[in-house]
Amino acid sequence: MGTVAIFPIRVFGDPVLRQRAAEVEDIDAKIVRLAEEMIETMQAAPGVGLAAPQVGIERRIFVYDVGEGPMTVINPAIVESRGEWEYEEGCLSVPDLHWPIVRPKEVHLVGHDLQGRELSIDADELLGRVFQHELDHLDGILLLQRLEKDQRKQAMRILRARALADPAGSAAGLSVSGVGDNGGSRPEA
Ligand code: ZN
Repeated sequence: MGTVAIFPIRVFGDPVLRQRAAEVEDIDAKIVRLAEEMIETMQAAPGVGLAAPQVGIERRIFVYDVGEGPMTVINPAIVESRGEWEYEEGCLSVPDLHWPIVRPKEVHLVGHDLQGRELSIDADELLGRVFQHELDHLDGILLLQRLEKDQRKQAMRILRARALADPAGSAAGLSVSGVGDNGGSRPEA
């Protein structure tokens, strides 16, 4: 497979994370290559999911791996959701911060794989959460927008303090109390 590039992951404040990504029209060699590079990037992070806008590409494609090997989904849609589940959700684009967020527990995802075959996947708990999180990225939504008002205020304070402490955005180590900071052991996507 030769050398596969690892992309820098775009973080909060980058306008590409606020755009709705466009449908993939043709699953050509460029898309296959992009998927390979996204998988490498996700594994290096490490993360359990990664959407194309997180590497600056405005296309509806995401990759994920919840322990059963990397998978790619193109033009995904959630067609059904059920139940409620609270989970400490984290994001590679808002690194090292986690918040308890309630979302549907189970979802049914449809889309296409890299061979253009139709996918139809019932997903529960972590996988269901990853699918919802990645879909949000494709619609320009960050998990910050899923927080309760008070959580969101606190999050914005932390992110502003980080930006002041390190305008280049390279220090992830600013310590945070009471926001589910966990030293990087929880999955991010
Ligand atoms: Zn994310």
